[in-house]
Amino acid sequence: MSHATWTCHCGSVAANVPVTGKRIVCYCKSCRAFVEQFGETDRLDPAGGSELIQVAPDKVSFTKGTEHLRWMKLTEKGPMRWYAACCGTPMANTLPTRAVAFASFQVHDIAPKDTLPAVSARVHLKGALERVEEPLGSVWPLMGALIGRSVESWVTGGWKRNPFFDSAGKPIATREDPRPSTG
Ligand SMILES: [Zn+2]
Ligand SMILES: [Zn+2]
Repeated sequence: MSHATWTCHCGSVAANVPVTGKRIVCYCKSCRAFVEQFGETDRLDPAGGSELIQVAPDKVSFTKGTEHLRWMKLTEKGPMRWYAACCGTPMANTLPTRAVAFASFQVHDIAPKDTLPAVSARVHLKGALERVEEPLGSVWPLMGALIGRSVESWVTGGWKRNPFFDSAGKPIATREDPRPSTG
């Protein structure tokens, strides 16, 4: 398994991320709001899309700095959104359960990028700020990949090695939602 490395801006948090995954651009408002929390709008494409790579969590390993991790929710039904609190770097989305093999990392802080797959889908186009000239793919192959990863993790027991959760299934970091803006 070959990996790339996700690193926060200050270098305190690092994770090995598998280079086998689905690389996408998501135009939903929540993904955009997540990076806006950190003033990171320069990583969005002109239509407001976030570049993400969806990988199997059991192939992710944190190599340092997990004490700096926090997670937030922008809506109660939405995913857990993980970030490095040391320097305010948005990192990844997961679901609140280990049963579904889903971790979606921000591509922006992954290196090297030339080992990553090409973008295979642009999703949630209705949330785009402007017309996306090159629609690509759909959510269905992503759902298929998600189911495939989940089934594999159930068969191999890999779901228990999800590094975002401890052996009891509790998140390894505390929840810290964005503070209400003071305008
Ligand atoms: Zn940092
Ligand atoms: Zn999204």
